[in-house]
Amino acid sequence: ESMEGQKMQEFRRSLPSFKERDALLNLISRNQVVVVSGETGCGKTTQLPQYILESEIEAVRGAACSIICTQPRRISAMSVSERVAAERGEKIGESVGYKVRLEGMKGRDTRLLFCTTGILLRRLLVDRNLKGVTHVIVDEIHERGMNEDFLLIVLKDLLPRRPELRLILMSATLNAELFSSYFDGAPTIHIPGFTHPVRSHFLENILEKTGYRLTPYNQIDNYGQDKMWKMQKQTLRKRKTQIASVVEEALMTADYRDYGPRARESLSCWNPDSIGFNLIEHVLCHISRNERPGAVLVFMTGWDDINTLKDQLQAHPLLGDPSKVLLLACHGSMASAEQKLIFDKPEDGVRKIVLATNMAETSITINDVVFVVDCGKAKETSYDALNNTPCLLPSWISKASARQRRGRAGRVQPGECYHLYPRCVHDAFADYQLPELLRTPLQSLCLQIKSLQLGSISDFLSKALQSPEPLSVQNAIDYLKMIGALDENENLTVLGHNLSMLPVEPKLGKMLIFGSIFNCLDPIMTIVAGLSVRDPFLMPFDKKDLAESAKAQFSARDFSDHLALVRAFEGWKNAEREQNGYEYCWRNFLSAQTLKAIDSLKKQFFHLLKDSGLVENVERCNTWSRDEHLIRAVICAGLFPGICSVVNKEKSISLKTMEDGSVLLHSNSVNAQEARIPFPWLLFNEKIKVNSVFLRDSTGVSDSVVLLFGGKVS
Ligand code: ADP
Ligand code: MG
Repeated sequence: ESMEGQKMQEFRRSLPSFKERDALLNLISRNQVVVVSGETGCGKTTQLPQYILESEIEAVRGAACSIICTQPRRISAMSVSERVAAERGEKIGESVGYKVRLEGMKGRDTRLLFCTTGILLRRLLVDRNLKGVTHVIVDEIHERGMNEDFLLIVLKDLLPRRPELRLILMSATLNAELFSSYFDGAPTIHIPGFTHPVRSHFLENILEKTGYRLTPYNQIDNYGQDKMWKMQKQTLRKRKTQIASVVEEALMTADYRDYGPRARESLSCWNPDSIGFNLIEHVLCHISRNERPGAVLVFMTGWDDINTLKDQLQAHPLLGDPSKVLLLACHGSMASAEQKLIFDKPEDGVRKIVLATNMAETSITINDVVFVVDCGKAKETSYDALNNTPCLLPSWISKASARQRRGRAGRVQPGECYHLYPRCVHDAFADYQLPELLRTPLQSLCLQIKSLQLGSISDFLSKALQSPEPLSVQNAIDYLKMIGALDENENLTVLGHNLSMLPVEPKLGKMLIFGSIFNCLDPIMTIVAGLSVRDPFLMPFDKKDLAESAKAQFSARDFSDHLALVRAFEGWKNAEREQNGYEYCWRNFLSAQTLKAIDSLKKQFFHLLKDSGLVENVERCNTWSRDEHLIRAVICAGLFPGICSVVNKEKSISLKTMEDGSVLLHSNSVNAQEARIPFPWLLFNEKIKVNSVFLRDSTGVSDSVVLLFGGKVS
């Protein structure tokens, strides 16, 4: 055995879960359902599935066993399987494999498969009894993601039909009782762990300690994103409004008498609706200059603000010698090379700073973290059932999340946590986050319930751990009927069946299907990939005019953000062919990383459509039509009923949707610059509710297109 291998085995034996190995295996062999809880990093995800595999091999049942371990995020499924394969001294795809949306590494001898929860649900579509599977491990159940809650209903139903199947639920937090009682009092086991104490600093202490002053000026951030933050207050739904107002009230009545006058004055300037990039930068500088060695983990809300901060930190030499800082990002769409760096210890004298989303809260453990910076927010999808409008907004985290973030600093030695909000705000947080099933639209989920033949949608969802509001369920059913995925009796149509096989939202799936039928798949795949990855057009706040005119060039005055995306993407492909991709992106305010992601997603869509028989042969791909009218029609087929009427007035354009009345265009849309829009309708993919309703990307279409492709016009 190599040195490396020995070290790895030693590391495995040092994990808290190792002491519980026999107890765990024993409990699993004697019970159909077991709930395992334990401190993040104790070895649940990487070790427990391996213990089962090892014990099955020891019992000479290795060849017969098939263990599936689900992860809420694709990136964890991939990185965990890689890690476990390495610990076993194997390559991925031998006994250990993974499968995520449109991608996988799995061989004939694979016995332990890490997959996303969505993949297991998809498998249940074609294999209701999970034939041949011996163990299902559902990881990170405490996150209460929609797919996980859904999977639990299905599995609960399946267990009596498969008495020998074992189900193991794993959770980081201690509310194991909830899951245990859902499964009729299944036994729970807790893996005791040890963490070092972590000292909390709240905003008032940070200001006092570092001498930093908040002023109305440095609370204004540099990027357009922050406009959204500032407007957020008015947009919050009832539940959130309660939290926001609790925060506000806490601020009004807070008692800062123990703090100096400067800290007090600073606190009065603190802007709770903005993410304080300058403050974060200042805290990072403070740590770099004054604190002992140790990695820093910064919790941000998402990919976009991570990038913004990364740019800001790289542009300013405030952090000191750049060769002494290793700045890394950790989020769902990072490259796997970057991932490895996150776990590695940097050279002596170099400080590792990881900018992460709440993914680093429980699913990824970076052992050498000593300092945590917590901005107090996370992006969560929420859903406004009354207006049928999904929103993705940063909102305050829960007390449980704050505790979890803090704990990340105490893995190897006592740590420090900098919470960038006052203590009174923390005390106003909710105890736990609301489960996703109760705050997001349910369309894809309802489609899956139907294709899994689970009976009436409402009856099924009433069996959940916590059931969604009947109004949300009804909205989803009505939507699916409207787009033709369900018939009047709530049965799946042919279209609905096809949509349920595609791993994208129903409206995007419908675009792919219509794009194949009408032979304009290539540009449609670009649009769908763009809508499911993220917007490649960058809009830096300080260069917004330049960025807007760069984007306008791609629109060629055809009143479509979606067509602009197609042109920008195709221009980039051409530039790539001539090795000019980066320069092209730089010149046109495009994100090369996003365009690459779109490119690879397109390839995956293509294979998927080919496998499902919707596309026949590859040769025709090159001759696929780029007929603009056809593309508009297919966009309409997908996005309808996301439509608003256009009336050009003398000095303005009036836009109206059925549900919201007057709406506005998001300033990033090419149509927002126009004085007139010569189309009676605009289709849109997404609306965002900030004090008014804003439409993001939009495309103009004619009456006849809406009549022919808009489904039922009511
Ligand atoms: P849990 O699931 O209980 O949170 P994990 O099994 O994910 O714990 O992690 C156990 C240990 O293995 C942690 O110390 C973690 O840092 C380490 N670890 C996990 N993945 C990797 C990796 N890819 N590279 C290096 N160390 C890892
Ligand atoms: Mg884990």
